[in-house]
Amino acid sequence: MALINENYLKLPGSYLFAEIARRVAKFKEDNPSANIIRLGIGDVTRPLPEAVIKGLHTAVDEMADGRTFRGYGPEQGYQFLIEKIIATDYQSLGINLDVDEVFVSDGSKSDVGNIQEIFGVDNKVAITDPVYPVYLDTNVMAGRSGDLLNGKFAGVTYLTCNADNNFTPSLPEEKVDIIYLCFPNNPTGTTLPKGELKKWVDYARANGAIILYDAAYEAYIQEPGIPHSIYEIEGAKDVAIEFRTFSKNAGFTGTRCAFTVVPKTVMAATKDGSQYPLNKLWNRRQTTKFNGVPYIVQRGAEAVYTPAGQQQIKALVSYYMANAKTIREGLKSVGLAVFGGVNAPYIWLKTPQGYDSWSFFDKLLHDVNIVGTPGAGFGPVGEGYFRLTAFGSQESTQEAIDRIKTQLSL
Ligand SMILES: *Cc1c(COP(=O)(O)O)cnc(C)c1O
Repeated sequence: MALINENYLKLPGSYLFAEIARRVAKFKEDNPSANIIRLGIGDVTRPLPEAVIKGLHTAVDEMADGRTFRGYGPEQGYQFLIEKIIATDYQSLGINLDVDEVFVSDGSKSDVGNIQEIFGVDNKVAITDPVYPVYLDTNVMAGRSGDLLNGKFAGVTYLTCNADNNFTPSLPEEKVDIIYLCFPNNPTGTTLPKGELKKWVDYARANGAIILYDAAYEAYIQEPGIPHSIYEIEGAKDVAIEFRTFSKNAGFTGTRCAFTVVPKTVMAATKDGSQYPLNKLWNRRQTTKFNGVPYIVQRGAEAVYTPAGQQQIKALVSYYMANAKTIREGLKSVGLAVFGGVNAPYIWLKTPQGYDSWSFFDKLLHDVNIVGTPGAGFGPVGEGYFRLTAFGSQESTQEAIDRIKTQLSL
């Protein structure tokens, strides 16, 4: 008899977005004329930059010609893209990488989800709370979590990030082996200055731990002193894997291209105590289970690194960051406590007195027809917070904030 992976049964249902959809559908049914504005989505809305479209078109034409047609490419990605990633995203920061340290993929979601496969099942995992759910759920599926008790998995270390600690996680009291960090953060929109990130690198070095650093929102950093890459921290190349994506900086959420950096110097231990490079394992994992990103898509991603592409993605980020400012200032002006939104497209607000995450969701929906995301959906510490995103259009964002200013009674 075929048995299932019972670890999957430990996962609570994907309650958050299903429940949001259910409540919005019900509201629409009762209020068919309501003009609902969605500021809850984590998806971009602007079209792909012109340079990318040009790159894609040229590659499509190449595929139509027998002389330039491409079949399977390298599983790790084409050299033409990897070289531009290294030169533009890393050498500019003083970071040198070899081409075989960068792995092009179809998304950071896949990579941050798959990476745990190359680690033993007995590792102790630490995640921030609140958190992007993929880190936790994939470790639950793999049997690394223990059981769910009062909203938390017993075998996982949760690192509290709330207003009391300025969304800066403290080093864990118990020893952990794998640490997921995401900065600028989804959902809180907050960042970690260099000095704070250095504490984690030092911890990892001292304890033989590995940091899995999700830098999906790196392009949104506006202020100086905030690391764009974890490799800006001395010693990080021995202990950190970094994930980047074209989804949020260049609008590739539906086009699919990302990359993961696994320096050859990052080692983890075998049971007998010898050191083994994670680069080799990730290469083995990817070449076995993945057949590469479409040639056309990689040419589109390459175009991000042309001068026009660089200028266009800057404009894209500026467009969303202007929305972030509108949201931030609008919420502040009605007396709400807001966080994030300065170096990230997410605004995290403290729900007003008398409201938890879900009752505030209902209030926004009913009073001003705005959909956001209840913080409780991102982890226990997210309760009492609420996420709005800057990924809408400028017009709808402005309209949403005007409604909050004039029609929301708190
Ligand atoms: C959007 C996002 C990603 C990117 O996922 P893709 O699969 O590359 O689209 C990764 N991590 C976080 C935290 C995100 O919010």
